[in-house]
Amino acid sequence: MTQVYRRVALIGLGLIASSMGHAMKAAGLAGEIVGFAKSAETRATALEIGFVDRVAESAAAAVEGADLVVLCVPVGAMGAVAAEIGPHLAPGATVTDVGSVKRAVIDAVGPHLPAHVAFIPGHPLAGTEHSGPRSGFATLFQNRWWLLTPVEGTAEADVARLRALLEGIGAKVDTMEADHHDLVLAVVSHTPHLIAYTMVGVADHLERVSNSEVIQYSASGFRDFTRIAASDPTMWRDVFLTNKDATLEILGRFTEELFALQRAIRMGDGEQLFDYFTRTRAIRRGIIEAGQDTAAPDFGRGAAKVGA
Ligand code: NAP
Repeated sequence: MTQVYRRVALIGLGLIASSMGHAMKAAGLAGEIVGFAKSAETRATALEIGFVDRVAESAAAAVEGADLVVLCVPVGAMGAVAAEIGPHLAPGATVTDVGSVKRAVIDAVGPHLPAHVAFIPGHPLAGTEHSGPRSGFATLFQNRWWLLTPVEGTAEADVARLRALLEGIGAKVDTMEADHHDLVLAVVSHTPHLIAYTMVGVADHLERVSNSEVIQYSASGFRDFTRIAASDPTMWRDVFLTNKDATLEILGRFTEELFALQRAIRMGDGEQLFDYFTRTRAIRRGIIEAGQDTAAPDFGRGAAKVGA
């Protein structure tokens, strides 16, 4: 594959950045990959693993001369990083990010970027419950969606170039408006994560069922919840703090539906329960037909899953 960017700077060197680094190297898409993370330990680990060619001592130094800068830090840290790198960005460079929420990132990052760079916010719908520089792998983005939410006035050529890189690491790329992205993600990822966190919390608090019973007898439904609920606390705190309105909107609808089902159970309304579960089963079939999951009994999950 041909080189798409001469120098890529990865700011933040956790799951997403390390996966990008591995994948870009495997496909020969970047001339040089420079990395920076907050702690010296993470920087040393990244260098030792080798998904970056070198590390810099600051975010500002990492972006010097880079024609692509990827912000791979928690959503709540994006603004401060942008403020630091803004004055050091090369003319004509593209800045993108991988944050799970888009409007808040645009508001936090946009004002710090000079007019001579292209800002193309992005979000890979791929992840695992693991974090840190050792958790990444080259195939994480294979056949996964990567949503871009370009800001007004972005040159088509800049979007096309970023798209070429992302497709080169295996992703399927789509563009959409930032607020719409946040609402869609509240439905398909953010609220489901909150529900998983809650269910695991309920099991933890239930005094009549011991913790050892929960662990010993956990069947696939609960096991899946525990895997999701093991996701990084910093990342998910930031998701709910920054995608507040959309999550509350979906959570409100969820609560209404839950009450309706609760009532059907109380009234013994088998017909309502059967009809409801029949409709939801059709949605599952649609997801399999769209190639977003497999019909295998374990949901076909190996290391990867559709992420935030
Ligand atoms: P991660 O594995 O926890 O890594 C985060 C990295 O950011 C670490 O290297 C950390 O450095 C660094 N960092 C934190 N604050 C920083 C700062 N102020 N300056 C420089 N570096 C800083 O996280 P991740 O899972 O890769 O997530 C990164 C982003 O991707 C988040 O915005 C998240 O919303 C998004 N995302 C995640 C997933 C997922 O499933 N995990 C999926 C899609 C998108 P230290 O190691 O030194 O602390």
